[in-house]
Amino acid sequence: MILKVEVDIKQILKLGKKFKWQKPEKCNHCNETKLWGHGFVISFFDGFEQGLYLKRYRCPYCHMVLKLKPIGYFKKFQADSRTIFSSILNRVYKDRYLPGISWGRQHFWFTALKRNIIAYLSNAWEKGVIAGFRELIRMNKIPVTSSI
Ligand SMILES: [Zn+2]
Repeated sequence: MILKVEVDIKQILKLGKKFKWQKPEKCNHCNETKLWGHGFVISFFDGFEQGLYLKRYRCPYCHMVLKLKPIGYFKKFQADSRTIFSSILNRVYKDRYLPGISWGRQHFWFTALKRNIIAYLSNAWEKGVIAGFRELIRMNKIPVTSSI
């Protein structure tokens, strides 16, 4: 479950995991009030070269994972899967990434995709990364996530 919070993205970038996230008051699912920290997931946003650590909490009662996300920002700036897919296509067929999006970010997508193919489709997967991307989408996985 994603919880949108008002935070200063620049501060998160500056402080990384040291950024003081405000702990949600209760679990959105069962109203349990004692939430546990549950690590971070790295997310990439357009306009920023580096990844952003987003804090997660876990409800000890119903096991719901709450991921905190900067309000309104994600929708607007997070690359859509179509963009990510063209980046992967470019890398595979032209051996270079798309212009206009940082190299580091696109390289992150590509390596995350390869890792997820091994994780979900096994290292016996022989149909290549493009087919792997489609297969992960079909399985309702995010092909370029780093949070497995
Ligand atoms: Zn709960």
